[in-house]
Amino acid sequence: MDLVFFTTFLRDHLLAVIAVIITLVFIYHYIIEKEHGVKLSKKYRDSIFEAQSKIFLNATQYLISGNKDLAIKEFLNAVDLNRETLDTYFALGGLFRSNGEIDKAISIHRSLIARENISESSRLKALKELAIDFDKGGFIDKAIETYKDVLKINRDQYEVIQSLCRIYEDIGEWDLAYNYRIMLSKVGHENQSETISHILVEKAKLQFESGDYKACLEDLDDAFRFAPSVSAKILKLKLFIVQNKMDDAKSLLIELIKEHPMYASFIFVSLEEYLNEEGKQDFYSRLQTLKSYFLEVGDWSKESSPSIILSQVRLLKAEDRIQEAFDLLSSWMQENPNGGDVLKIEYIKLLIEVNKETEALSQTKTLLLSLNNTLTRHFCSQCGYDSDAIFWRCPQCHNWETIQFRWKV
Ligand SMILES: [Zn+2]
Repeated sequence: MDLVFFTTFLRDHLLAVIAVIITLVFIYHYIIEKEHGVKLSKKYRDSIFEAQSKIFLNATQYLISGNKDLAIKEFLNAVDLNRETLDTYFALGGLFRSNGEIDKAISIHRSLIARENISESSRLKALKELAIDFDKGGFIDKAIETYKDVLKINRDQYEVIQSLCRIYEDIGEWDLAYNYRIMLSKVGHENQSETISHILVEKAKLQFESGDYKACLEDLDDAFRFAPSVSAKILKLKLFIVQNKMDDAKSLLIELIKEHPMYASFIFVSLEEYLNEEGKQDFYSRLQTLKSYFLEVGDWSKESSPSIILSQVRLLKAEDRIQEAFDLLSSWMQENPNGGDVLKIEYIKLLIEVNKETEALSQTKTLLLSLNNTLTRHFCSQCGYDSDAIFWRCPQCHNWETIQFRWKV
């Protein structure tokens, strides 16, 4: 009975009901506008207001012309926040964020999330945008929290997981970085093994520094299971040295250098990083043993990798074995006359050290000539285009007056 009465009443007085509701909506939006008006600049405020008033204007026009159905539809659209208005809000939020006005972007996205008449997908989108606001604004804790809120609603969010990976790697939270990287590999169907291996090595490094060698080795073994990275091998080498497993250390060193001759000098530099801490006297003397082994063992010269020769020469120089360094390099230079400028410079320095000034001078002259021949006189400051001729418009990037004289070799 009541329902029948209600629908009859509604049919008869529809015009009046809608007029009252629309007035209420107007008042509601007026209040919201006033709240936002303080924060939004006039230009943006106008564009929002324009979009909103268009809807209300249409609704009122339909009402006056007696087209109740269209008026109701228009009215419902307005309450539902029509697509156009919603897009305007998202566009504005993005605009504010890229403009660095993070607080304004945050308040827009928050107000969208708080709306009741909004679809779940739009709310999720607004939540994602809010997380990016926090992220860009440097509010790391809030960004993490909001990204996680997004994942609670929908776990299949590649970019959100990726952002969490980046944040946790930035702040060195390796356990969480590992968890989210695994999640990313499942969602994205991309192989993340290399990265996961690096993350586990970083985790193992922390264990190593705290002296928990057992946990360090466990993490390292996990890292090897994902991918055998150079950083994992170097850390394992450190671990062998600390635990005085010198035979293992020696064979791993040889394996490493044969596999990656390019990293030969790099390996000793990163092993020495550990010496900066106190009470590592044993480590130092064992490292010396390993260096001597590297210098004495095998005939690396036949492998003829410049990087291996360079690190041998540097090790010998560091031990003041100048004559040996000179003999090694000069015999290598005879077999590899085009062995690279860094080794040529090293050779000239050694010639001076062993008092062969005349030879040093003639080598310097040859080096300078070859540098002069390989380097162009000018280059483009925009794209790096090389040229001996003078150009006012760069033939590569087409910019004007970007020509620079090359002062630095
Ligand atoms: Zn250019």
